[in-house]
Amino acid sequence: MLCRKPNYLIVMLFLTSCLPSLGLAQNADADSESKLRIIVFGAHPDDAEYKAGGCAALWAKQGHAVKLVSVTNGDIGHWAMAGGALAKRRTAESAEVAKRLGVASQVLDIHDGELVPSLEYRRQITRVIREWKADIVISHRPWDYHPDHRYVGVLVQDAAYMVAVPFFCPDTPPLNSNPVFLYSSDRFLKPYRFEADVVVDIDSVFEQKVRALSALESQIFEGGALGSAEFTASTPPASQPEMRLDYLRKIWADRSSKEAERFRAELVERYGAERGKAVQYAEAFEICEYGRQPTPAELKALFPF
Ligand SMILES: [Zn+2]
Repeated sequence: MLCRKPNYLIVMLFLTSCLPSLGLAQNADADSESKLRIIVFGAHPDDAEYKAGGCAALWAKQGHAVKLVSVTNGDIGHWAMAGGALAKRRTAESAEVAKRLGVASQVLDIHDGELVPSLEYRRQITRVIREWKADIVISHRPWDYHPDHRYVGVLVQDAAYMVAVPFFCPDTPPLNSNPVFLYSSDRFLKPYRFEADVVVDIDSVFEQKVRALSALESQIFEGGALGSAEFTASTPPASQPEMRLDYLRKIWADRSSKEAERFRAELVERYGAERGKAVQYAEAFEICEYGRQPTPAELKALFPF
Protein backbone atom coordinates (compact mmCIF):
# COMPACT_ATOMS: atom_id res chain seq x y z
CA MET A 1 0.00 0.00 0.00
CA LEU A 2 1.20 3.47 -0.80
CA CYS A 3 -0.53 5.24 2.01
CA ARG A 4 -0.57 4.96 5.75
CA LYS A 5 -3.64 5.72 7.83
CA PRO A 6 -2.99 7.55 11.11
CA ASN A 7 -5.12 6.46 14.02
CA TYR A 8 -7.21 9.52 14.80
CA LEU A 9 -9.15 7.83 17.54
CA ILE A 10 -6.32 8.30 20.01
CA VAL A 11 -6.01 12.07 19.55
CA MET A 12 -8.96 14.43 19.89
CA LEU A 13 -6.96 17.51 20.84
CA PHE A 14 -8.24 20.86 19.73
CA LEU A 15 -5.19 22.55 18.29
CA THR A 16 -6.48 24.90 15.66
CA SER A 17 -4.86 27.99 17.13
CA CYS A 18 -1.45 26.48 17.75
CA LEU A 19 0.23 26.64 14.36
CA PRO A 20 3.50 28.29 15.46
CA SER A 21 3.92 26.08 18.49
CA LEU A 22 3.37 23.03 16.35
CA GLY A 23 5.81 24.44 13.83
CA LEU A 24 3.48 23.74 10.95
CA ALA A 25 3.72 26.96 8.99
CA GLN A 26 7.44 26.42 8.56
CA ASN A 27 7.92 27.73 5.09
CA ALA A 28 6.36 31.16 5.51
CA ASP A 29 8.33 34.36 6.10
CA ALA A 30 8.97 35.21 9.75
CA ASP A 31 6.31 37.95 9.84
CA SER A 32 3.56 35.61 8.67
CA GLU A 33 4.63 32.41 10.33
CA SER A 34 1.24 31.74 11.92
CA LYS A 35 -0.36 31.56 8.49
CA LEU A 36 -0.41 28.40 6.43
CA ARG A 37 0.54 28.31 2.78
CA ILE A 38 -1.40 25.86 0.62
CA ILE A 39 -0.97 24.96 -3.04
CA VAL A 40 -3.47 22.80 -4.93
CA PHE A 41 -2.50 21.26 -8.28
CA GLY A 42 -4.95 20.16 -10.93
CA ALA A 43 -4.19 19.12 -14.48
CA HIS A 44 -6.61 21.57 -16.13
CA PRO A 45 -8.06 25.00 -15.32
CA ASP A 46 -11.00 23.57 -13.34
CA ASP A 47 -9.65 20.50 -11.51
CA ALA A 48 -8.14 22.15 -8.43
CA GLU A 49 -11.24 24.34 -8.22
CA TYR A 50 -13.58 21.32 -8.25
CA LYS A 51 -11.53 19.20 -5.87
CA ALA A 52 -10.62 21.74 -3.21
CA GLY A 53 -12.61 24.94 -3.85
CA GLY A 54 -14.47 24.60 -0.56
CA CYS A 55 -11.38 24.11 1.56
CA ALA A 56 -9.63 26.90 -0.36
CA ALA A 57 -12.42 29.28 0.69
CA LEU A 58 -12.25 28.08 4.30
CA TRP A 59 -8.49 28.57 4.51
CA ALA A 60 -8.75 31.97 2.81
CA LYS A 61 -11.39 33.15 5.32
CA GLN A 62 -8.86 32.51 8.09
CA GLY A 63 -6.16 34.48 6.29
CA HIS A 64 -4.14 31.50 5.07
CA ALA A 65 -2.55 31.78 1.61
CA VAL A 66 -3.95 29.43 -1.03
CA LYS A 67 -2.94 29.03 -4.66
CA LEU A 68 -4.77 26.91 -7.24
CA VAL A 69 -2.47 25.75 -10.04
CA SER A 70 -3.41 24.23 -13.36
CA VAL A 71 -0.44 22.30 -14.69
CA THR A 72 -1.67 22.46 -18.30
CA ASN A 73 -3.23 25.44 -20.03
CA GLY A 74 -6.39 23.60 -21.06
CA ASP A 75 -5.94 24.43 -24.74
CA ILE A 76 -7.83 21.40 -26.11
CA GLY A 77 -10.55 21.40 -23.47
CA HIS A 78 -13.43 22.48 -25.68
CA TRP A 79 -15.47 20.96 -28.50
CA ALA A 80 -15.52 24.06 -30.73
CA MET A 81 -12.34 25.99 -29.98
CA ALA A 82 -8.71 25.25 -29.13
CA GLY A 83 -5.22 26.69 -28.97
CA GLY A 84 -4.11 30.01 -27.56
CA ALA A 85 -7.57 31.56 -27.56
CA LEU A 86 -8.95 28.73 -25.43
CA ALA A 87 -5.93 28.77 -23.10
CA LYS A 88 -6.46 32.49 -22.54
CA ARG A 89 -10.17 32.01 -21.97
CA ARG A 90 -9.67 29.20 -19.47
CA THR A 91 -6.88 31.04 -17.65
CA ALA A 92 -9.28 33.97 -17.20
CA GLU A 93 -12.03 31.62 -15.97
CA SER A 94 -9.67 30.07 -13.44
CA ALA A 95 -8.52 33.51 -12.26
CA GLU A 96 -12.15 34.56 -11.76
CA VAL A 97 -12.89 31.44 -9.68
CA ALA A 98 -9.83 32.19 -7.53
CA LYS A 99 -10.93 35.81 -7.08
CA ARG A 100 -14.36 34.66 -5.87
CA LEU A 101 -12.76 32.21 -3.45
CA GLY A 102 -10.26 34.79 -2.16
CA VAL A 103 -7.21 32.84 -3.34
CA ALA A 104 -4.45 33.05 -5.98
CA SER A 105 -4.25 31.08 -9.21
CA GLN A 106 -1.67 30.11 -11.81
CA VAL A 107 -1.90 28.29 -15.13
CA LEU A 108 1.33 26.76 -16.41
CA ASP A 109 1.96 27.04 -20.13
CA ILE A 110 2.00 23.31 -20.95
CA HIS A 111 -0.27 21.93 -23.67
CA ASP A 112 -3.41 20.15 -22.52
CA GLY A 113 -3.24 16.42 -23.23
CA GLU A 114 0.55 16.45 -23.58
CA LEU A 115 1.78 16.36 -19.99
CA VAL A 116 4.51 13.77 -19.37
CA PRO A 117 6.40 12.99 -16.15
CA SER A 118 9.67 14.49 -17.45
CA LEU A 119 12.67 15.94 -15.63
CA GLU A 120 11.85 19.37 -17.09
CA TYR A 121 8.35 19.32 -15.62
CA ARG A 122 9.60 17.85 -12.32
CA ARG A 123 11.83 20.91 -12.03
CA GLN A 124 8.96 23.22 -12.94
CA ILE A 125 6.62 21.73 -10.32
CA THR A 126 9.39 21.83 -7.71
CA ARG A 127 9.97 25.51 -8.39
CA VAL A 128 6.26 26.35 -8.20
CA ILE A 129 5.95 24.62 -4.80
CA ARG A 130 9.10 26.33 -3.50
CA GLU A 131 8.08 29.78 -4.76
CA TRP A 132 4.76 29.46 -2.91
CA LYS A 133 6.65 28.28 0.23
CA ALA A 134 3.99 25.64 0.61
CA ASP A 135 3.18 23.89 3.88
CA ILE A 136 0.45 21.81 2.24
CA VAL A 137 0.47 20.45 -1.32
CA ILE A 138 -2.60 18.78 -2.87
CA SER A 139 -2.80 16.96 -6.21
CA HIS A 140 -4.55 14.22 -8.13
CA ARG A 141 -3.63 10.63 -7.34
CA PRO A 142 -1.45 9.04 -10.05
CA TRP A 143 -4.33 6.71 -10.99
CA ASP A 144 -7.02 8.35 -13.06
CA TYR A 145 -8.73 8.08 -16.43
CA HIS A 146 -6.97 11.16 -17.80
CA PRO A 147 -3.23 10.97 -18.54
CA ASP A 148 -2.73 14.62 -17.52
CA HIS A 149 -4.32 13.92 -14.13
CA ARG A 150 -2.14 10.82 -13.68
CA TYR A 151 1.06 12.68 -14.53
CA VAL A 152 0.26 15.61 -12.25
CA GLY A 153 0.05 12.97 -9.52
CA VAL A 154 3.41 11.52 -10.56
CA LEU A 155 5.10 14.91 -10.93
CA VAL A 156 3.92 16.14 -7.55
CA GLN A 157 5.04 12.87 -5.95
CA ASP A 158 8.41 13.30 -7.69
CA ALA A 159 8.72 16.77 -6.15
CA ALA A 160 7.65 15.59 -2.69
CA TYR A 161 11.21 15.08 -1.53
CA MET A 162 13.13 17.23 -4.01
CA VAL A 163 11.53 20.50 -2.82
CA ALA A 164 13.78 20.33 0.24
CA VAL A 165 16.98 19.23 -1.56
CA PRO A 166 19.19 22.33 -2.02
CA PHE A 167 21.13 21.24 -5.09
CA PHE A 168 18.05 20.20 -7.08
CA CYS A 169 17.02 23.36 -8.96
CA PRO A 170 19.57 25.49 -7.03
CA ASP A 171 18.17 28.59 -8.77
CA THR A 172 15.13 28.47 -6.44
CA PRO A 173 15.70 28.35 -2.67
CA PRO A 174 14.63 24.99 -1.16
CA LEU A 175 11.92 24.76 1.48
CA ASN A 176 12.96 24.71 5.13
CA SER A 177 10.61 21.87 5.78
CA ASN A 178 9.08 19.25 3.55
CA PRO A 179 5.36 20.03 3.14
CA VAL A 180 2.53 17.62 3.83
CA PHE A 181 1.37 16.20 0.50
CA LEU A 182 -2.21 15.06 0.02
CA TYR A 183 -4.31 13.61 -2.77
CA SER A 184 -7.72 14.94 -3.69
CA SER A 185 -10.50 12.37 -3.75
CA ASP A 186 -11.56 10.23 -6.70
CA ARG A 187 -13.51 7.04 -7.28
CA PHE A 188 -10.89 4.91 -9.03
CA LEU A 189 -10.42 1.45 -7.54
CA LYS A 190 -7.17 0.17 -9.02
CA PRO A 191 -4.54 -0.30 -7.72
CA TYR A 192 -6.33 0.81 -4.58
CA ARG A 193 -9.36 2.81 -3.51
CA PHE A 194 -8.97 6.42 -2.28
CA GLU A 195 -8.73 6.39 1.52
CA ALA A 196 -9.84 9.59 3.25
CA ASP A 197 -7.52 10.87 5.96
CA VAL A 198 -9.16 14.31 6.13
CA VAL A 199 -12.82 14.95 5.38
CA VAL A 200 -13.92 18.57 5.63
CA ASP A 201 -17.40 20.01 6.19
CA ILE A 202 -17.80 22.64 3.44
CA ASP A 203 -21.44 23.52 4.17
CA SER A 204 -20.59 27.08 5.23
CA VAL A 205 -18.83 27.81 1.92
CA PHE A 206 -20.86 25.61 -0.42
CA GLU A 207 -22.75 28.54 -1.94
CA GLN A 208 -19.50 30.45 -2.37
CA LYS A 209 -17.95 27.45 -4.14
CA VAL A 210 -20.95 27.18 -6.50
CA ARG A 211 -20.84 30.88 -7.33
CA ALA A 212 -17.08 30.68 -7.92
CA LEU A 213 -17.35 27.61 -10.16
CA SER A 214 -20.01 29.31 -12.27
CA ALA A 215 -17.14 31.30 -13.83
CA LEU A 216 -15.99 28.10 -15.57
CA GLU A 217 -18.31 28.81 -18.45
CA SER A 218 -16.47 26.88 -21.16
CA GLN A 219 -16.58 23.71 -19.08
CA ILE A 220 -19.83 23.87 -17.14
CA PHE A 221 -22.23 25.53 -19.52
CA GLU A 222 -20.61 24.51 -22.82
CA GLY A 223 -19.44 21.03 -21.81
CA GLY A 224 -15.67 21.34 -22.33
CA ALA A 225 -13.86 18.87 -24.58
CA LEU A 226 -16.83 16.52 -24.95
CA GLY A 227 -19.54 19.17 -25.11
CA SER A 228 -21.55 20.16 -28.18
CA ALA A 229 -23.85 22.85 -29.55
CA GLU A 230 -26.79 20.74 -28.33
CA PHE A 231 -25.34 20.51 -24.83
CA THR A 232 -24.69 24.25 -24.70
CA ALA A 233 -28.26 24.94 -25.81
CA SER A 234 -29.54 22.66 -23.04
CA THR A 235 -27.91 24.71 -20.24
CA PRO A 236 -29.13 28.10 -19.01
CA PRO A 237 -27.73 31.01 -21.06
CA ALA A 238 -25.40 33.71 -19.71
CA SER A 239 -28.35 36.11 -19.77
CA GLN A 240 -29.95 34.03 -16.97
CA PRO A 241 -27.32 34.08 -14.19
CA GLU A 242 -29.71 32.90 -11.44
CA MET A 243 -30.82 29.95 -13.58
CA ARG A 244 -27.17 29.13 -14.18
CA LEU A 245 -26.52 29.13 -10.44
CA ASP A 246 -29.53 26.87 -9.84
CA TYR A 247 -28.29 24.49 -12.51
CA LEU A 248 -24.81 24.36 -11.00
CA ARG A 249 -26.06 24.20 -7.41
CA LYS A 250 -27.98 21.02 -8.23
CA ILE A 251 -24.93 19.38 -9.80
CA TRP A 252 -22.66 20.25 -6.90
CA ALA A 253 -25.21 19.49 -4.22
CA ASP A 254 -25.38 16.00 -5.69
CA ARG A 255 -21.60 15.55 -5.96
CA SER A 256 -20.70 17.05 -2.61
CA SER A 257 -23.47 15.30 -0.69
CA LYS A 258 -22.30 11.99 -2.15
CA GLU A 259 -18.85 12.75 -0.75
CA ALA A 260 -20.38 13.47 2.65
CA GLU A 261 -22.33 10.19 2.58
CA ARG A 262 -19.33 8.22 1.40
CA PHE A 263 -17.22 9.50 4.28
CA ARG A 264 -19.93 9.85 6.93
CA ALA A 265 -17.97 7.78 9.47
CA GLU A 266 -14.92 10.02 9.03
CA LEU A 267 -17.09 13.16 9.41
CA VAL A 268 -18.55 11.83 12.66
CA GLU A 269 -15.06 11.00 13.89
CA ARG A 270 -13.77 14.48 13.01
CA TYR A 271 -16.71 16.64 14.14
CA GLY A 272 -18.54 14.45 16.65
CA ALA A 273 -21.86 12.69 16.15
CA GLU A 274 -24.17 15.70 16.09
CA ARG A 275 -22.33 17.84 13.56
CA GLY A 276 -20.80 14.89 11.70
CA LYS A 277 -24.21 13.42 10.93
CA ALA A 278 -25.59 16.81 9.89
CA VAL A 279 -22.87 17.73 7.38
CA GLN A 280 -24.38 18.01 3.90
CA TYR A 281 -21.37 18.72 1.71
CA ALA A 282 -17.77 17.54 2.01
CA GLU A 283 -14.34 17.46 0.42
CA ALA A 284 -11.87 14.69 1.20
CA PHE A 285 -8.11 14.19 1.04
CA GLU A 286 -5.66 11.37 1.54
CA ILE A 287 -2.12 11.74 2.90
CA CYS A 288 0.64 10.85 0.45
CA GLU A 289 3.38 8.95 2.21
CA TYR A 290 6.21 10.73 0.37
CA GLY A 291 6.03 14.14 2.06
CA ARG A 292 6.17 15.03 5.74
CA GLN A 293 3.93 12.74 7.75
CA PRO A 294 1.71 14.78 10.10
CA THR A 295 0.52 13.53 13.46
CA PRO A 296 -3.26 13.55 13.90
CA ALA A 297 -2.92 16.75 15.97
CA GLU A 298 -0.87 18.41 13.24
CA LEU A 299 -3.39 17.39 10.65
CA LYS A 300 -6.14 19.10 12.64
CA ALA A 301 -4.05 22.27 12.75
CA LEU A 302 -3.39 22.11 9.00
CA PHE A 303 -7.15 21.91 8.34
CA PRO A 304 -8.28 24.33 11.09
CA PHE A 305 -12.01 24.28 10.35
ZN1 LIG B 1 -8.86 17.66 -15.70
